[in-house]
Amino acid sequence: MDHFSYKDGVYHAEDVSLELIAKEVGTPFYCYSKATLERHFNVFSRHFDDVGAKICYAVKANSNLGVLNTLAKLGSGADVVSEGEIRLALAAGIKAENIVFSGVGKAATEMAYALDQGIFQFNVESEPELRLLSDVALSKGTKANIAIRVNPDVDPKTHAKISTGQKESKFGIAIAHALPVYKLAATLSGINVQGVSVHIGSQLTTLEPFAQAFARVRQFVEELRSQGFTITTLDLGGGLGIPYGGEEPPLPDAYAEVAKKETAGLGCQLIFEPGRMLVGNAGILVSRVMYVKHNDGGRIFVIADAAMNDLMRPALYDAYHHIMPVRAADGNAPTELVDVVGPVCETGDIFAEQRLLKVPAAGDLILFRSAGAYGASMSNTYNARPLVPEVMVHGSQYAVVRKRQTYAELLARDTIPSW
Ligand SMILES: *Cc1c(COP(=O)(O)O)cnc(C)c1O
Repeated sequence: MDHFSYKDGVYHAEDVSLELIAKEVGTPFYCYSKATLERHFNVFSRHFDDVGAKICYAVKANSNLGVLNTLAKLGSGADVVSEGEIRLALAAGIKAENIVFSGVGKAATEMAYALDQGIFQFNVESEPELRLLSDVALSKGTKANIAIRVNPDVDPKTHAKISTGQKESKFGIAIAHALPVYKLAATLSGINVQGVSVHIGSQLTTLEPFAQAFARVRQFVEELRSQGFTITTLDLGGGLGIPYGGEEPPLPDAYAEVAKKETAGLGCQLIFEPGRMLVGNAGILVSRVMYVKHNDGGRIFVIADAAMNDLMRPALYDAYHHIMPVRAADGNAPTELVDVVGPVCETGDIFAEQRLLKVPAAGDLILFRSAGAYGASMSNTYNARPLVPEVMVHGSQYAVVRKRQTYAELLARDTIPSW
C-alpha cells in the first residue's frame, strides 16, 4: 500500500498535487512519499521485533539523504557497498554500529575508512579480500568483524541481471568451498569471525528460493559450530520483490515466517538487508510529454522529457513500470498501442513498447510508478542531461531533497588540458 492517489482527478503524493510540484520544480523529477517509506519500514520491521533483528536498508536502492534520514529515524541500519555509501549513511544519522559493508571489490582505503568508523560487520566475498582486510586492520592495531558471504547455489527465479546466488555468480563464496576460507580467517590476526551472510538476488516473487537458501545456510552454521567456530550473526540479505505490474510477491509476514522458521533455535543475531521492498513503491518519476509522433509504420511514439539516463531499469532489465497520466484521462479519450520513449539517442531508450494507453497530448504530465528503487540512484548524465531533482512529500508539505543539477555544475566536472 502506498500514499499516491488521484484527488479530484489529479494525482497526488499524500496531500500534494503533482501538478503543483511540476509547476514549481520543473520536469522530470522524482517524488517520494515519506508516509509510504515509513509504512514500508514498519510493516517489514515489526515482524522481527520479537527476535530483535537488525534491519540494514540496502543504500544502493535509493541513497538520497532525505530517504536515508527518514529510515534512520525509524531505527534502520544500512547495508552499504562503498565508502561513499558509508558516508551518506552516517551523514543521514545511521549509527556505525548498524552498518554492514557488502560488495566484491572493497578497496583498502574503503576498508580503512569503515574500520575507523567502527562499522558492525564486513561481509567478505573472497579469500584475497579477507587477507587484505586482515592486513588493513592489523596496520591499525584492530580486528575487523566479519561474516563470509556464502553462495548457496539457489536459483532465485528472477531476471538474470539481478540474480546473485547461483554458482556462476561473481558474488560470495560457494557454500561447498567456504569452510576452508573460515579456517583461513581463524588464522588471520586482523580478523574476528562473527557470522555468515547470504543474498541470492533481487525482486524475488516466491518464497521457495529464500527457504532453500536459508536452510542451506542454517546447515552451514551448524557445521561451522561443530568445527569450533563461534557464529553469532546471520545476515539473510534482501531481495523481497514488489508489485510493479501483475506480480504478487510474498508479503513481509510470510517472508518473516520463513526466515524465522529456518533459523529457529540458532540463537544468532539476524540481519536483513531490504532495499527495493522499502523504497520501490514509495517513489515515482514525473515527466512531461514533449511530442506525440506518428511514424509511417502506423506506430505512435509518446516522447517524454525523462529518459533512460533518469530511469535505467527498462533499458537495463526490460523492467515494467506502470505509466499513468497525472491528470486522470477523460473516459472518452482514445486508447491506442503506443511506445513511450525518451529523448536519448539510443534505441534502448524505451520505457514501454506497444503499451495500451489513453494517448496523451504534448504538454501533458505522465508518471512512472514504482520508481523509488534503483531509479535516481542509478541515474547518470548520458547525453549531457543534468541529474533530475528529487522531492519528498510529507502530508501537505514538500521539500526538494536533491536539487536539479545545473549546466554550470555539469560543465565544471571536466577540464581541458593545457596542451
Ligand atoms: C542489492 C543488495 C541488497 C538489496 O536488494 P533488494 O532486492 O533491493 O532488497 C541487499 N544485500 C546486498 C548484498 C545487495 O547487493
